[in-house]
Amino acid sequence: MRINKPAILLVTMSLLGALLSGCGGANEAADAKSGTNSKQSQSQAVQPVSETFFIFDTIVNVKIYDNRATNQNLKEIEALLKDIDQKINRQLEGSEIYQVNENSGVAPVQVSRETYDLVAKAISYAKQSDGLFDPAIGKLVGLWNIGHEGAHVPEPEEIAEALKLCNYRKVELNEANHEIYLQEKGMVIDLGAIGKGYAADIIYDYLAGQGFSSAIIDLGGNVYAMGQKPGNQKWNIGIQDPDQERGNPIGTIKVEDKTVVTSGIYERFFIEDGKLYQHILDPRTGYPVDNGISSVTIVTKSSADADALSTTLFVLGIEDGLAFIENIPDTETLFITKDKKLYASSGFKEMLNKTNDSYEFAN
Ligand code: AMP
Ligand code: MG
Repeated sequence: MRINKPAILLVTMSLLGALLSGCGGANEAADAKSGTNSKQSQSQAVQPVSETFFIFDTIVNVKIYDNRATNQNLKEIEALLKDIDQKINRQLEGSEIYQVNENSGVAPVQVSRETYDLVAKAISYAKQSDGLFDPAIGKLVGLWNIGHEGAHVPEPEEIAEALKLCNYRKVELNEANHEIYLQEKGMVIDLGAIGKGYAADIIYDYLAGQGFSSAIIDLGGNVYAMGQKPGNQKWNIGIQDPDQERGNPIGTIKVEDKTVVTSGIYERFFIEDGKLYQHILDPRTGYPVDNGISSVTIVTKSSADADALSTTLFVLGIEDGLAFIENIPDTETLFITKDKKLYASSGFKEMLNKTNDSYEFAN
């Protein structure tokens, strides 16, 4: 580290902070928070090289804890994010997925290997969940437009019409040419449930390729805690309290080289006639899932999988979701319900340092 006055001041202040809060335990500020975009505090001597980007409707914050990291690295990360946007953003005119959607019912579209593989991964989750997770849900997502200006409850007829065009079984994948064909005109692929995790993995791979091994990659609360934090410590990741302002956790988990991804009702929603409509839709009904769940968090290695899983488990519900996760190695989950109950896989229960007494374990 280059020693300069502000750096010394920062180190002094953070050491003081560490002393005041006691090292570790309930008072230690989280290094990042899953399910929210929040400021992070760091009580270590290595100052991160850090940048915030705004891309695919998401605040992306990357902090690299390595004295060799430079602004050039941040520029290259930004370029990677733009490239991902150009590939998978259905709303970006000309993107690969945009072209696939434009050619629905007309012709297959050849896409990059990366886009093809991501769609194939999404389709595999659709198969495993019998269509409760469905990347071909774009027509419905566009109709509800949740999280965007003017969102309102559509007419039942509109929902019924859109539903007819949401079916992953009508997505044809041609592995050899990496072509994607949507069999019916008007079908729309939407990768909103998996894209942020995918981007986190790309940034992770880039950083690893550059020889870095300590970073926080945070895409709108979809966190990758790469390696260890400076000082050979585990990272502390906060789990957002769904009923509180962003930045208030129900507790924290300590992780090392893991991704922590949350799907929550507070992420995107609107309220009409006193009812909250959140952004994860039930492909059986065409309406937002309304099953008493406030959030689902996944902890595992691959962020794209964690992202797909958090959405899948949200739709599956607690019982089926816990059973689903049981068969996946090295993957843990926590459900938080609207009535403040926690349902955790055994590994998650062990990890969680719960700091909010109004939440109780129910399993
Ligand atoms: P996430 O925040 O990762 O749970 O993803 C939610 C986003 O995925 C929504 O904003 C939609 O773009 C999309 N989506 C909504 N419902 C589904 C579903 N049942 N299957 C797959 N994607 C969905
Ligand atoms: Mg997801």
